[in-house]
Amino acid sequence: MEVFSLKDARSWIDETARLIAENASNLTELDSAIGDGDHGTNMNRGFTAVEKKLEATQASDVSALFKQVGMTLLSTVGGAAGPLYGGFFLALARVTAGKQMLNDRELLQSFREGLADIQRRGKAQIGDKTIVDSLAPALNAWETRTDNNFASATTCAATAAAEAAKATIPMLALKGRASYLGERSIGHQDPGATSCALLFQALASVCNSNGAGG
Ligand code: ADP
Ligand code: MG
Repeated sequence: MEVFSLKDARSWIDETARLIAENASNLTELDSAIGDGDHGTNMNRGFTAVEKKLEATQASDVSALFKQVGMTLLSTVGGAAGPLYGGFFLALARVTAGKQMLNDRELLQSFREGLADIQRRGKAQIGDKTIVDSLAPALNAWETRTDNNFASATTCAATAAAEAAKATIPMLALKGRASYLGERSIGHQDPGATSCALLFQALASVCNSNGAGG
């Protein structure tokens, strides 16, 4: 697979929705330890609404699809994560506007804009125990792959994201609800970093199962 098409984008979102549903109770359990126990239900509600939206209205290109995803997440997820993930997908939509296909660098660049948007809104730095702590390492791992091969690049990103989500366990939360716990936030995996790793797991799975974008 050398280009990322509208069909691939749709498959990515479908697979993300499936993984979020499958892992909803785990995400909620993680959020019960250091938050208010709603991250799994929030995300699952959002991605269920996204799937309905995508069924109902055919997007004309990748950017339009990302915009539908972003708008739907913004209006349905709530909490801290809703605006952050919503803004992430709207940033992807902005950067990919007018393109029918994306190459590996273009998709990575749109994710970089998504990360920047999350940091603009949420003001989290690396190490604050948030979504940023799996998203940033995933993109850095992706960046090291220069072979324009979606399968290997996204696998690399997904592995990095999963490891990085685990690496939030010893972190002290400095942003969001978990930060209210102070030192008691140490020793628990961050729910948002964990859901973000699922986005990369879904992307890698789609990029590894597709022969070509079409
Ligand atoms: P809420 O905390 O409002 O209940 P969720 O439970 O849905 O929202 O999401 C919690 C997750 O949101 C956290 O685990 C964390 O990863 C992420 N998060 C919270 N605040 C920020 C922030 N400022 N920047 C990035 N991610 C954040
Ligand atoms: Mg919560």
